[in-house]
Amino acid sequence: MTTILDGKATAIQIEEELKSIIAASSGRQPCLALILVGENPASKVYVSTKKRKCEALGILSIIHDFPDTIDEKTILTTIATLNADDTVDGILVQLPLPNHIDALKVCSAVSPEKDVDGFHPTNVGKLLLGNDDGFISCTPYGISTLMERYGIETSGKHAVIVGRSNIVGKPMAAILMQKSPHGNATVTVANSRTPNLKEVCRSADILISAIGSPHFITADMVKNDAIVIDVGINKVTDTTKPRGYKLTGDVDFENVAKKTAFITPVPGGIGPMTVAMLLTNTIKAYKQHMSKAPR
Ligand code: NDP
Repeated sequence: MTTILDGKATAIQIEEELKSIIAASSGRQPCLALILVGENPASKVYVSTKKRKCEALGILSIIHDFPDTIDEKTILTTIATLNADDTVDGILVQLPLPNHIDALKVCSAVSPEKDVDGFHPTNVGKLLLGNDDGFISCTPYGISTLMERYGIETSGKHAVIVGRSNIVGKPMAAILMQKSPHGNATVTVANSRTPNLKEVCRSADILISAIGSPHFITADMVKNDAIVIDVGINKVTDTTKPRGYKLTGDVDFENVAKKTAFITPVPGGIGPMTVAMLLTNTIKAYKQHMSKAPR
């Protein structure tokens, strides 16, 4: 029988641990600045969820909400001000940004010490080098932490990651390939041009799907007793729901779960873990910041 990797419950547990750390720390409150640009409804929901979580833990959160028409320079100036502000520990730029704004330039403008999303080239480089004083992109960090909390061994396993984005696939590969307790896996990263994807997936002990295609991973692509991690968040029409849609992952959960050892649900899997890791990174930034502050 498969074990459901309960990201929601694990995230609550991590948030309780962080709450105790914050309550026990003397000095000022930790602070996260959130930059939101435009009217993307999903982005608005993500930012308000993050703010709500911060407040529940005792982290101060400040939202900088800009219209779609904002120019890149104003965003860069705001980031420079936040970088210089000693009372701000973390800065998050909610993606995607409107097309006229260069997301890489904006993310690279955030000070690496405050880059709690782990998107800055310095932090990406640190992850690749196995230097653990940087920040790891929250979704792959959440996947790794969830597996760790369930005692899943990655060493010696063949991990197949479907999707090679900068925020999920590539950093996930970097974590799993490290010579470290959370790594030591043999890693394959597949993309839309990978031939024989079914066979590649079937060779996976750990299969991680981050594509954005509902029910793409079917039971015949998964070997018996595999560990399946579903990162995908897809809206599919469901007229029985008040909103007219439901969220589903990349994995045909109902059929795939019958043959796995462990599997994540959608919702309630990697989504909540991603937010928990943002909060974890914010507290890491806070601690690093406070340890450097003049006494
Ligand atoms: P991107 O669109 O940036 O990347 C998708 C990747 O999937 C690309 O590398 C693409 O290949 C690959 N791909 C697409 N179709 C296929 C296919 N048929 N076969 C093999 N590979 C394919 O997506 P993200 O990484 O940003 O997000 C992926 C999914 O994860 C989305 O559903 C997103 O909503 C979700 N997500 C969930 C998060 C969470 O907190 N749970 C956080 C971040 C994302 P190629 O490079 O060749 O185009």
